[in-house]
Amino acid sequence: MLQILDYIPPGFLDTKAIRMQDLLQAPTLIHIKGRREQPLFVSVLLHGNEITGLQAIQDLLRKYNNKPLPRSLSIFIGNVSAAAQGMRRLDGQPDYNRTWPGTETVNCEETLMMQQIKEEMRLRNVFASIDIHNNTGINPHYACVNFVEDRFLHLATLFSRTVVYFTRPLGVQSSSFADLCPSVTIECGKVGQQYSETHAMDFIDAALHLSELPEHALPEQDIDLFHTIAIVKIPEHASFSFNGDDADICFDNDLDHMNFRELKKGTRFGKVCKKRNIQLEAWNNDGVNIGAELFNYRDDEILTSKPLMPSMLTLDEKVIRQDCLCYVMERYK
Ligand SMILES: [Zn+2]
Repeated sequence: MLQILDYIPPGFLDTKAIRMQDLLQAPTLIHIKGRREQPLFVSVLLHGNEITGLQAIQDLLRKYNNKPLPRSLSIFIGNVSAAAQGMRRLDGQPDYNRTWPGTETVNCEETLMMQQIKEEMRLRNVFASIDIHNNTGINPHYACVNFVEDRFLHLATLFSRTVVYFTRPLGVQSSSFADLCPSVTIECGKVGQQYSETHAMDFIDAALHLSELPEHALPEQDIDLFHTIAIVKIPEHASFSFNGDDADICFDNDLDHMNFRELKKGTRFGKVCKKRNIQLEAWNNDGVNIGAELFNYRDDEILTSKPLMPSMLTLDEKVIRQDCLCYVMERYK
């Protein structure tokens, strides 16, 4: 299932995500030699419609224009078949960012491929790991870590002072590589913004120039660190809408403006239909539904029960069904 190359295939730099399947035929790992031997690992298109990472890599390679990179680079171009359809993943495919070693997904082609990539990068003594994503709501650019450790936080803050620490879901790329090297996921906002592409490219370039990641603590004022405490989902059997259409849950249509804002207790998310007793689920890091602690339903209005900060709130119905409504965070320190 995995193709491994030690060169940049002809045409790669000018091929759009939607055509990458035609060019590569399969998920592909590309090793490029640079001045320092230990490679930086960068994964892109784990979600097929999140194309900023691919564009950033293409910009970076164009910038170096066959001149040697400061450090070796290994690029994984992930779900090219979903990218061909402009989708996060195809129906019937597992999520390419839930299938890395440590996953709950039972063994399948994809989990075996991710194991193979991790083993390959372990043998190459990987230096650091970056996984690049977009999201669909209004969010700042931020980095995520799965361990609160100084080297990881230094890498993360090279991208943004806003950093999110999360331990769920399982099987994500950054979490899987964390026992090999400092690793981060970066969230580059919505697809199609030139600034995001440039920001991601500058970050990869900066990481390529690092000789090492400092082990000393970051000054407190250099980082805003948040901790994900729950994933909010809509019960599978419940219908929902954002445009006022009749549904079990009618969300307010400006919900995604609340991302990364510290919301007061009693903040409204929308309304529920009287007839059906539908409530939001909020799965904490132990897999317990704490929805009833976070939300209450006075007069059919969905209200927060305590101060909380959401991230990745989105109005995209497909993303909500395939992933979640949002994450809930608190300040870490
Ligand atoms: Zn993603």
